[in-house]
Amino acid sequence: MIVRRGVRLEQHKVESLKYPIQVLPVPDSFPKEKYFMPPKGNFGADAIIAAAESANIIDEFDGVPLCQKLKRMRQMKIDIVLACCLDEDPYTTSAIATLRENTDAIIAGLVFISKACGAKANKIVVATAREAKRIKKINPRADLIAAGERYPARALLKRRFGNKKTAYVGAQACAALTAAVDDGEAQNTTVVTVAGEGVETWCNLRARIGMPLQSLFDFCGVSERTRLVITGSSVTGKTVTDLTAPITANTRCVIALIRRPLHKTYTCVGCGRCTRACPRGIIPWRILQEMEREKPNPLRLLNAQRCIGCASCSLVCPSGIDLSGMVNKAAAIKKSGDFN
Ligand code: SF4
Ligand code: SF4
Repeated sequence: MIVRRGVRLEQHKVESLKYPIQVLPVPDSFPKEKYFMPPKGNFGADAIIAAAESANIIDEFDGVPLCQKLKRMRQMKIDIVLACCLDEDPYTTSAIATLRENTDAIIAGLVFISKACGAKANKIVVATAREAKRIKKINPRADLIAAGERYPARALLKRRFGNKKTAYVGAQACAALTAAVDDGEAQNTTVVTVAGEGVETWCNLRARIGMPLQSLFDFCGVSERTRLVITGSSVTGKTVTDLTAPITANTRCVIALIRRPLHKTYTCVGCGRCTRACPRGIIPWRILQEMEREKPNPLRLLNAQRCIGCASCSLVCPSGIDLSGMVNKAAAIKKSGDFN
């Protein structure tokens, strides 16, 4: 169902949130967990950034090293830091599960992050008011905001802050920073949602970074009828062809599907759904029209550079057109400066 800006996706989260986060057994042959000397005494912003660097913390939402993000956030003079504790993908629940079980660590991590980048405020972002109430019961100090369930919730929420400069940091990155600053613990593990119709037991697993993706399926069980494995997100994620590939800090979910999505496309029917779904005010069908010309005019590819690649436009298109990919190509043309 389409709503004003963004799109409402059918959710499949209940199953993997039934159980607490489970721990994936680590083989004896696997390298031991790493530790370093944590900052001591009355430490400041630089020591926090140094701890994030020593702990090799990666933000699970964008794959960027946290120390780099903190330096950039400081330069940009961010007003509000937002801990992203919502999972926009219909199957993924690793951020929600991490928040429910590590509320205190996430609150402490947010305080460290705000101190490191000089932000005056911070908030924990959840999807619904019901989830916010649940977290408040765990820790009444949690300062929460509900982003809503329309996809892409993170982009839509940013609009509500108006001119204030905001920056998102992943829930797991926040908790990892607390472990680094308090105990000198490197980011050795990550929480991964294993779900999808091809998975026997859907759950969130705390896995050692570097172990093969296959080990997640060995633990949860996977159907022989599985036809497609995706990591990242079922909306914008990547197809996995090699299950010996390592689990990384930004492997938030692994989804096994027994049916491949159909990719039949038809011509545009001019319904305008793509425009209504776009959180960035782009008119994807107009860009499509221009891109279908032999020589697209970059001046007519309006706002293509504002695209965040959320794929909401592609999701709602009744003609099955890959608008997101098209807008991405249009943005590349604009960036290249090819105005001939
Ligand atoms: S992928 Fe780009 S054009 Fe499409 S809805 Fe998202 S921001 Fe808009
Ligand atoms: S959603 Fe698809 S069919 Fe509708 S206007 Fe956009 S491109 Fe055309």
